[in-house]
Amino acid sequence: MRQILTLLIGLFVLFSCKNDKIDNIESEKSHEKVINKTENFGIVIHGGAGTILKKNMSDSLENAFTSKLKEAITKGHSILENGGSSIDAITATINIMEDSPLFNSGKGAVFTHEETNELDASIMDGSNLNAGAVAGVTRIKNPINLALAVMNDSPHVLLSGKGAEVFAEEKGFDLVDPSYFFTENRFNSLKRVKQREKDKENKVSFEDPYIKDSKFGTVGCAALDKNGNLAAGTSTGGMTNKRWNRIGDSPIIGAGTYANNATCAVSSTGWGEYFIRGMVAHDISAMMEYKEISLQEAASEVIQNKLPALGGTGGIVAIDNQGNVAMEFNTAGMYRAHMNAEGELIIKIYKDE
Ligand code: ASP
Repeated sequence: MRQILTLLIGLFVLFSCKNDKIDNIESEKSHEKVINKTENFGIVIHGGAGTILKKNMSDSLENAFTSKLKEAITKGHSILENGGSSIDAITATINIMEDSPLFNSGKGAVFTHEETNELDASIMDGSNLNAGAVAGVTRIKNPINLALAVMNDSPHVLLSGKGAEVFAEEKGFDLVDPSYFFTENRFNSLKRVKQREKDKENKVSFEDPYIKDSKFGTVGCAALDKNGNLAAGTSTGGMTNKRWNRIGDSPIIGAGTYANNATCAVSSTGWGEYFIRGMVAHDISAMMEYKEISLQEAASEVIQNKLPALGGTGGIVAIDNQGNVAMEFNTAGMYRAHMNAEGELIIKIYKDE
């Protein structure tokens, strides 16, 4: 009896040692995974897509765009490099572009038909599919920060107009006077578009290429952090001469912004109505998930085939959970930049660069 008992104890000890070993191998493996992820962090941004042609661009304006894109992406990259989250990188990067009058977001937003500025923004966390968005806000200096507050501090995903601003005040946001958003340049664009309407006896629509292209400069960012978490965010003033509290794709989760750790993070820019109908950002993620294709393949299919088939123009920037990046657009140009874990920086504006 005693011998049997000793044998059983012996077997039990042997079995537990073996399990310990398996556990150690597993934890070594997961450690390896973490190391891989830290090698693959990265960030990609856009500053809008459209008929952006070198012949229409002065050297000084080109330099201004390039250096602002560089400042914004470098900020986000340093946050990621120091172990910060992709959400923090997205908001800090977008804040720099929102504060610059160069872009159609925050200061520099385009004007509505009524000569006001109505801002839209959204953010999504790929680790838990949490999301927050605001639409039609008129007194929020950095709408992406309010979108973040909606995600973190409210039970909702999308707040709009006055209600969003009441929420902002409750959360301690300083509201700015709407005149903060005024820029001469954007106001002149509105005047030109209105003149165009008059010339054509009100028969123009967003189909008119002149009007379709009067909106450049939406900003967006997608990032992968050292913990393997993806996030994306987008901020815009929408389209020049928009009316009736029109809301574009930028605050619509799945159209203007989408992030999912299982696949990728995407931020869109372009003619919003088509991005909403095509659910562009989510479609890219879904194609990766269901068809098991790469980010680049999914982005090309959606932006070069599916979106134009609907009649839509624009582009996206995206990053997958391995750090691969896509900057795809079907317009003449898209302000864009990418920075990888090694700190290599690419900044481009036109097609075929
Ligand atoms: N997508 C934005 C909108 O339709 C505009 C843009 O990205 O240029 O509101």
